This record gives sequence, structure tokens and C-alpha cells, in this order.
Amino acid sequence: MQGQMMDFSLDTQAILRRGGQIFGNQEVVTRLTDGSYHRYTLREFERRVHRLINVLRDLGIQPGDRVGTLCWNHYRHLELYFAISSMGAVLHTLNIRLSEEQLSYIINHADDQVIFVDTSLTSVLEAVEDECPNVRNYVVLDDQGETAETSLSNQLDYETLLAAASDQATLPDLDENSAAAMCYTSGTTGNPKGVVYSHRSIYLHTMAVMTTDGYGLSQREVVLPFVPMFHANAWGLPYAALFSGCRLVLPGAQPTAAILAKIMIDQKVTTAAGVPAIWNMLYQHLKQENLSLDTVETLIVGGSAAPRAMIEKFDKEFNITILHLWGMTEMSPLGTVGRIRSHMEDWSYDEQLDIRMKQGVPAAGVEIRIQDDNGNLLPWDGKTIGELTVRGPWVASGYYNNPEASKSFTEDGWFRTGDMVTINEEGYMQIADRSKDLIKSGGEWISSVDMENCIMAYNGVAEAAVVARPDDKWDERPVAFVVSADSANPLTEEQIRTHLLETFAKWQVPGVEDVRFIDVVPKTSVGKFDKKVLRQRLEG
Ligand code: AMP
Repeated sequence: MQGQMMDFSLDTQAILRRGGQIFGNQEVVTRLTDGSYHRYTLREFERRVHRLINVLRDLGIQPGDRVGTLCWNHYRHLELYFAISSMGAVLHTLNIRLSEEQLSYIINHADDQVIFVDTSLTSVLEAVEDECPNVRNYVVLDDQGETAETSLSNQLDYETLLAAASDQATLPDLDENSAAAMCYTSGTTGNPKGVVYSHRSIYLHTMAVMTTDGYGLSQREVVLPFVPMFHANAWGLPYAALFSGCRLVLPGAQPTAAILAKIMIDQKVTTAAGVPAIWNMLYQHLKQENLSLDTVETLIVGGSAAPRAMIEKFDKEFNITILHLWGMTEMSPLGTVGRIRSHMEDWSYDEQLDIRMKQGVPAAGVEIRIQDDNGNLLPWDGKTIGELTVRGPWVASGYYNNPEASKSFTEDGWFRTGDMVTINEEGYMQIADRSKDLIKSGGEWISSVDMENCIMAYNGVAEAAVVARPDDKWDERPVAFVVSADSANPLTEEQIRTHLLETFAKWQVPGVEDVRFIDVVPKTSVGKFDKKVLRQRLEG
């Protein structure tokens, strides 16, 4: 016997409709480069999306075609998110910080037909244009209302095209399993790999993101995604904003910690999302300027581990809750959320921190397990480390046109994350390391993440990253790169080592020569610690 519910297509058109109809008066706010704010309602937004669909059709975009965007977080990028997918084409968000080689590789690999680009980023495309012969048009988006002078061929102006288009478009019936968007992983080795999201996966991911034990989004929230819209769908926030009706505040081009703080205060932001490095910078800025953020309740942290010290500092000094997430581009990206449960509420603060530091329990819809090198399942005892494998309706089942893809999946079809983790009896997952970042010294493992956390908890440390260096005697030894918070009062190697000895065994603690002070920890294109660069420095 079959169920008798409607075969209703789960697609981005439904998300767009809900935003425009139910929350038509809600605003989308964008900070422009001159510091002023652009604002309009979701009703006006929906009309512009319809115009843009007509523009895309006039440009010859067909269902299934890939359309690239090279943009910061702003309202026009949001229009592109919805217009491209709702007309049946595929939104391909390009990472603005990739090397020229990687950028031309992914434009060609995805076969982008048209690319929409911010004025401030056109030079990035000028550098690769000759390598990308299949791109028919470049459409330039300018937040200052000036026509950009670029050398891009076949260049069009976004606002001119929109002004000439009708604001009524007929939307096609979509197959919910068809592609809506794609994003390439930052790919630490080899070429970047393309992840293709379906309408269905985006819709279901959006529902999970909104749940109370997910990000807990509602119409009452004012949400600022600092995480770029080119990084894993800005963690689902653009879609969730329209579905929940919350107010979306977009930081525009080149946001710094100071700009962020100002936007949060001006726009009464309640929730913001980004990698730990940005919240670290925000913290330093707030302290230096003696500011507080009275409306902010939650900072969503993902992409790298939220250091214990950071969670504690925001709790105690600013009354702001750090909500720790783990995810991957391949998972749309939400995997797990680190919230405490009701029976933990009367635990001591430190015990609660032990839980909140973990990456958390799987979001409703995601399933997780741990496996050893031979694929055997490992126990959920909070101690045994193995590779995390996952499955669910918004987890990738392959990579776009990639013959190597099968290596990333188990024989029974679960996705291999490459993260080495423990899971406790209650399903809380904690990352010990990326498999390649674990340090093996004298046959025993040292977690670089644990050591970084410990160093960053020390007063006077701004940032710390730990990597392995080859060692004749021990195979590998940890090297700690440390940034002092106050350059006028630098810390010493011995202070760091003495502090580490309170937590780590003597053999695990880096030698004096392996504690190195630097000005800043290098970051990847999405703001994570770039350990590849640190390893290269060591080789150098
Ligand atoms: P990306 O696809 O670029 O977002 O990278 C995904 C990877 O980032 C994961 O496989 C983890 O190694 C890392 N990651 C994401 N969130 C966290 C987190 N909360 N703690 C530690 N590592 C994380």
C-alpha cells in the first residue's frame, strides 16, 4: 500500500514563495562599501528575482546550465541564489580567494556559461579570462552605481539588465532531485572537487537548520552570515532566512572585525555565523574599544574547532553563547550541533563546557558512525578514535565528474569525512583531528587540536596552530606556532611549555626550539588555519 500524501516538489521555488508571501514585509539589509545600508523587503526581493530569471533566459541560460557567481555577501548575491536555481539552472558559487589556477580549473570543470561578478572582484576574473573560453558573458554587479571599467570581454551591467526585464516570470516545474547549486571543496591536496546540491537536499537541510536544536531560527531573529556565500551555501542561512522569515543582514565587501561590530550594533543583530578566527578578531576588537554587543545572543561557530577559551570568554565577558557546529561542503554543510541537553543543566560550568566544546550530536536527519582502517565499526565510548563516516539526505553521494570520487565512500555508501573522532554514549561527536593533522610521535598520537586549544586558553595568546615536523628519532614532533595578543609584552617559549605541561605528558610537549612566535597564523581561503603553509615554512 502506498502513502497518499501529495508528491510536492521540495525545491527552492517553494522557499522563495514563502519568503515573499508570508514574510513580504521582512527586510534584507546589506552594508554597502561607503558604510551606508541598502534595505528592501522580501516582497521587493521576490520581484527582482523574477526580473533576474527573465534576464537569465535572455542570456540563453537553459535548465541544467551552470551559472557562476564571484561575489561577497550582499542582496544581489541572494537574488542570484534564488533566480538561478528557481529557473532550473545551477548556481555555482566561486571562492574569491582561490589561486588563478584553481579558479580557472573549477570554471572550466563546471562549464560555467555566464559569471556574475562584483566590481571589486573583476580583476580576479580578468586574470583567468583567457583560460576560460566557454564563458559567454560576464555580468558586473556594482554597489556604488558606477559602471565598472574592466577589460572583461562580453561584459554586461547587472542593473541595466534588470531594469529592462519584466518582473513577472513563469517558473518551470522542477524535479526535486535535479541540481540547484554546486560548490567546490577547498581541496587541500589535488584539484578542488565539485559537490552538487539538489533542490530536495537544500529544502531538507533548510528545515534542519531552522529547528530549535539546529540553529534555532525564527522570524524574530536578526541573522548575520559572516561566513561567505561562496563557502558551503553560507551554511544554509540564505535559504533559512526566507523560510523562517528572519531578518538577514549581509556584511558586503571586505568586512573586518570593526565593521562587523558596527553592523551588529547598528542593525541589532541577534545571531551571527563564522569561523573561529573571525570571532577571535571580534573579541580582540571589542576589548580594545571597550564595546559590548547587547543584542547578540548567539555566535554560530564552525569550519574549525571552537577553542574552549573562546567559548568561555564570550560567555563570561559578553554574555554571548558560542554555538559549536561541525559540517562539510559535502554535507550542505550541517552535520552536528554542540548543545547541552536538559539533564546537563545542573552540571557545573566546566562540565557543561566539556560538552559544548565537542562538535555535537547529529542534526535531525544525519546519521554518523566511526570506523577503523579496515572498516570495522568502533564503540561509542567517548575514547575510541576512528574515522567518522556519515549519511543523510543532504550528504553528497559523489563528486561532479570525478573518477576518484569512489575513494571517499565506504563499500556500503557512507561518506568518509577524513575526520578522526570519538563519539560518546549519548551521540556527541568530538574531533580529535583531520587524519592528516594528527601527530604521531614515538608511535603515540598527539592531537594538534587539543594542544592548540590548550595554548589558546593561556592568557596573552591570540592564536596558536600546531603541526608536525619530521623527526629522525620520534618520526614526528609537534611544533607550536603562537601569536602573542600584545606585541609589546611578548610571551616566552618557557611560559607556553610550562602551561602545556599542566595538561600534556612531558613527551608530548614541544621542545623550546619547537615553540615559535609569529605575527599571525596564515589562513585558508575560508579563514581556517592553513597548516599546509606552516608545514611548508618548516620545510623551508
Ligand atoms: P569545508 O568543507 O571546507 O567546510 O571543511 C570541512 C572540514 O572542516 C571538516 O571535515 C573538518 O575537518 C573541519 N571542520 C568543520 N567544522 C569543524 C569544527 N566545528 N571543529 C573542527 N573541525 C571542523
